Amino acid sequence: MIPLFEPHFSGNEWTYVKECLDTGWVSSAGKKIKDFEQAISAYTGSPFAVATVNGTSALHLTLVGCGIQPGDRVILPNLTFAATANAVHYTGATPVLADADPLTWQMDATLVEEWLKKQKGPLPRALVLTHVLGNMGEVEKLANICHSYGIILIEDAAESLGTTKDGLHAGTFGKAAVLSFNGNKIITTGGGGMILTADQTLAQKLRHLSTQAKADPEEYFHDEVGYNYRLPNILAALGLAQMEQLENFLKKKRADAALYHALLKNSEAVTGFQKTLSGVWPNYWLFTAKMKDKKTVKETLAKAEIQSRALWVPINQLPAYQQCEYITRGDVSGQLYATCLSLPGSVSLKESQIREICKIITTA
Ligand SMILES: *Cc1c(COP(=O)(O)O)cnc(C)c1O
Repeated sequence: MIPLFEPHFSGNEWTYVKECLDTGWVSSAGKKIKDFEQAISAYTGSPFAVATVNGTSALHLTLVGCGIQPGDRVILPNLTFAATANAVHYTGATPVLADADPLTWQMDATLVEEWLKKQKGPLPRALVLTHVLGNMGEVEKLANICHSYGIILIEDAAESLGTTKDGLHAGTFGKAAVLSFNGNKIITTGGGGMILTADQTLAQKLRHLSTQAKADPEEYFHDEVGYNYRLPNILAALGLAQMEQLENFLKKKRADAALYHALLKNSEAVTGFQKTLSGVWPNYWLFTAKMKDKKTVKETLAKAEIQSRALWVPINQLPAYQQCEYITRGDVSGQLYATCLSLPGSVSLKESQIREICKIITTA
């Protein structure tokens, strides 16, 4: 069987986890958490990094920390993982969905700008920008739009560790950003997340809120409603070991993506690829292509015991969000969902396996 994605532990994972077990530092305090935060901060160039239990909690906490509350509206992509919308929902704010660009599959900046120009009355408080599939779209354009309308930009960079645009890391373009270290992300801690920000006050606030808002080292005095969102030390140990291998993972993912592209670009079964804008260096989290007949390709791959994955069902098609306002011209997200298929992308994937997968797709 070729799985869609499996984690790769070939570094210091056992050593660092054993250190936690040997010393008893397994929980929400310990040196590995700080070290992991520092490793992410150094790698991404984000001045501050706050570790959390997962990417979803990181998103929720960031929105809370930015003051998002009931009555506010938050723009988010229609084509994203449900967690992006759910985090907005947890705050009591109202999601406004924005359609994708047909070429980059990222939030359509022009569409958002046109919509904002027409707004009368209060504007949305924040915009959460997902970097879809570890690629990036017109992030500076959206950052400028947000800036001129006084909207807080938060990046959902959950899939984008290692992705850069003009040398700047995904997650360093807005007020704050989140990463995820779930089992299927480019590095994993089993479950885990991280908030990136250049705002020291916000970073302190988020750290405080993530540890139950406990305001006194001795007394159990909590100065506001807090959350138990801190990443355990034993998971941070895994993250540290994974970070040491990230450059190699990226090299492998980029080489595999190039091979997939070369083998599929002339295939009649494939009708398109996600466009990479100039200056963007994607991590190719999951190599994804538009198929002429997604269902048949998926079934044929499954018969050969090869996993593939559909894109997310767009947020506007989910029962909880069907009533949300949807900024769109022709439901590009719906079309992408209907045609796109993600292909196996484990770091351990062999060249021969990629050739086998592409051969099956081409002859499906
Ligand atoms: C994985 C993911 C998340 C959620 O991260 P978890 O760590 O699984 O909570 C959020 N947004 C996007 C776009 C993701 O891919």
